[in-house]
Amino acid sequence: MLATVGEPHLPSRTIEEPARRVPIYGEYEVAVLGGGPAGIAAAVASARAGRRTLLIERYGFLGGMGTAAGVTNFCGLHANVYGEMHRVVQGVASDLLGRIDRLGGLNAPHLILGKILAQAYDTAAYKIAADDLLASHKVDILFHALGAGVVMQDDKRINVLMIETKAGRQAVRADIFIDCSDDGDLAAWAGARFEVGDNAGSMLYPSMMFRLNGIDPAKAGDAWRTIPALMEQAEAAGTHRFPRKAAIVRPQRHQIEWRVNFTQLAREDGTAINGLEPDDLTRGEIEGRRQAVNAFEFLRTVPGFENSYVVDLPPQLGIRETRRVVGGYMLSGDDVLGCASFEDTIGVNGWPMESHVAGDVIFKFPPIPGSRGFNELPYRMLVPDGIDNLLMAGRCASMTHDGQSAARVSGACFAMGEAAGTAAALALSGNTNPRDIAVEKLQQQLKQQCAFIGQDQDVPEGV
Ligand SMILES: Cc1cc2nc3c(=O)[nH]c(=O)nc-3n(C[C@H](O)[C@H](O)[C@H](O)COP(=O)(O)OP(=O)(O)OC[C@H]3O[C@@H](n4cnc5c(N)ncnc54)[C@H](O)[C@@H]3O)c2cc1C
Repeated sequence: MLATVGEPHLPSRTIEEPARRVPIYGEYEVAVLGGGPAGIAAAVASARAGRRTLLIERYGFLGGMGTAAGVTNFCGLHANVYGEMHRVVQGVASDLLGRIDRLGGLNAPHLILGKILAQAYDTAAYKIAADDLLASHKVDILFHALGAGVVMQDDKRINVLMIETKAGRQAVRADIFIDCSDDGDLAAWAGARFEVGDNAGSMLYPSMMFRLNGIDPAKAGDAWRTIPALMEQAEAAGTHRFPRKAAIVRPQRHQIEWRVNFTQLAREDGTAINGLEPDDLTRGEIEGRRQAVNAFEFLRTVPGFENSYVVDLPPQLGIRETRRVVGGYMLSGDDVLGCASFEDTIGVNGWPMESHVAGDVIFKFPPIPGSRGFNELPYRMLVPDGIDNLLMAGRCASMTHDGQSAARVSGACFAMGEAAGTAAALALSGNTNPRDIAVEKLQQQLKQQCAFIGQDQDVPEGV
């Protein structure tokens, strides 16, 4: 195993659990663990290719961090291509966005840091649109099921995924598994190699998101520009202290509602709360809500926010980084900044490096407007070393700490998920392992599905 800085410390005292017979929930061609952007796209792509597909999710809704951690904003759907904005993530993502829009839940894209677009949405619309999308492609969904382990067929093949449900422990058998669990749980249980964090004892810091309602839009104006300076003044005056700079406070679709990305959760020693440690997670949730109260008290002093109130604290703390599973290639920060191309590209990432370090957020962009503004994502990022019937997609895919700071956002996760689901279906058609499929076939298939993968394809017009 590579460096495992930040791996959970298990208690030393143990008991022996008696062996027991476990009911088999179902047998599938493809089983996807996790219903965030990667899992949604993977399940849709696999089912659309005619494969019997199950998506397993621990919550009662889809969207991953996008809904469960209150993110409410898509990044990475766009790229700044020589100074012009283009939506470079298409395919399944376009279908989902269309459904959110038809529910009245999608903002027009907005400019971030004067360089790149992001697009806010309502969580309720995202959840409903994702349900509809999966139903329309006949994906079987199992909510309220926590992936809890695997039983291997041999060192290289997963036989079943164990799940914990209200009906007790059950097993899901599949020919191919896709790990979209964000933490790379499935890959780790199967014995795949992984890294955690920055290999120096920390990782990208988590945040507790929240949303305010009751804002006076006319009075608040473009307060997202002035809030950072107001924070500095408040700190200088000694009235408030903030856990980080670079707070993001932006309006949602209905401008009386704003999302607040303001907090940063650390351990007592200053390193990031570890999303793999139950005690850390507990502390992070409680401290995150405490920080949200402090942030809210400050925001009520901003013109237009005087009568605002907290309308939502999400179901969970937002975790940005834990395990990154090692595959055939690890996407790096240099790849992002250098707009790298790959022979085996399956999609693209147009989001810059976004490093949540102690007390701050540091963005690093490829040259703008001097570059095409996106890097390609190689198929090898999705294929773990050592395990034959497993793919991974989303923030647990094969990336370095710096590469992951960029390609972890929703856009690239949709692209990776769609490629993983399509690859699983191709592997089954060819009766081969995902590692051994003909990548040209995968690329051709993705293009037919209207995905943009870079290479010689024209960059899609419009935003
Ligand atoms: C505070 C914060 C702010 C962010 N802001 C933005 C932003 O503005 N725009 C943007 O695009 N991205 C943002 N991101 C990043 C982005 O939300 C995530 O990186 C992205 O959602 C990752 O997608 P994913 O599909 O890999 O994983 P996730 O979205 O995390 O989805 C994984 C899913 O798997 C489920 N799961 C995990 N383990 C198990 C298990 N063992 N059993 C069953 N289910 C399991 C989870 O419940 C979850 O639904 C932010 C992240 C954070 C934390």
